[in-house]
Amino acid sequence: MEVNCEGCAGCCMDWRPLLEDGSESTEAKDGENGGDNASSSDRDSGRRHRRQRDPIDSATGDASSREPFDDDPNFVALTRDEVRAFLEAGMADALTPRFWAARNESEGVGVDGHTVAAIAGRPAFFVGLRKPPKPVAPFGREEPTWLPSCVFLDPTTLQCRIHESDLFPDECGSYPAYNLALEQETECERVEAAVGGDRLLETEYDDTDGLLLGSQALGAKLFSHPRPADLEGIVDRTAAGELTRRDRAELIAVAAASSPGTLAISDHHYEWAKARVIEGEDAEPTAESESWVGPVIRDWHERCREADGALPSPAVADAVEVERGAPETPGWDALE
Ligand code: SF4
Repeated sequence: MEVNCEGCAGCCMDWRPLLEDGSESTEAKDGENGGDNASSSDRDSGRRHRRQRDPIDSATGDASSREPFDDDPNFVALTRDEVRAFLEAGMADALTPRFWAARNESEGVGVDGHTVAAIAGRPAFFVGLRKPPKPVAPFGREEPTWLPSCVFLDPTTLQCRIHESDLFPDECGSYPAYNLALEQETECERVEAAVGGDRLLETEYDDTDGLLLGSQALGAKLFSHPRPADLEGIVDRTAAGELTRRDRAELIAVAAASSPGTLAISDHHYEWAKARVIEGEDAEPTAESESWVGPVIRDWHERCREADGALPSPAVADAVEVERGAPETPGWDALE
């Protein structure tokens, strides 16, 4: 379907700070150098906007939504096969989990003092892409702002570095068709309403097979952890934006080991995936153990902290990302 993405990337970043007068807090809070500068008032502000309908509702036919513990308004939920593909590409550092608060105690499991939404007594979660802070200037703005931005977003062109690759997530390739199919507002419309312009150029869409509603989602895109006790500390650190690599490894491994349509977990895939995530933890990165992704995320967090409010040009991404091996993007002139 036709959308006007030039100069936007609203669905690839958290641009809510641009709507806030005097907002200074833009550091993404996804742990491992992720910082935790977003205020609790911001997290609880009710301005959260969603890319998905409540996924557990999709699996159970339930009606109202649950709040995620993290603060990513545009979480890109990956399928099990996509999680495995990122692991095979050495890009485990790009991945992070999402839990939701249960609406009441009967539908959840108690972990870290929270009632975590669960399926069959197992905490439910997504795995998606991390958003380190990057200096970006969307919507025709002249000055950049540090905004939590997808690890794969090129800050200079506001294009996706994996758009033409096999790793490009189905949810990104289908956006905003899934929102339209679910009768949810699209990010294109939110951007139009906030800053003007025409972003959503048509509302017809092709098939939405990748939505994975109902029981199709279970084990394919909506995962469940078989051992809630193993999540002690992890749910708290999710809410605080302080997940460690080992925390992420536990959830990513369960996702990679899941079986579509069932609650089954493959021990073989669990061990393989966990090793892929944590293997670079205590060692110098090698070509096999870590791609450009991990160093880039750490570098952006460090630069944002050390910038102390100063704003580098988005062009610094050449040094931070491209020189470490990130694919370049074509720019918009090349696409005209
Ligand atoms: S993978 Fe690409 S299209 Fe998807 S959110 Fe990230 S930058 Fe955007």
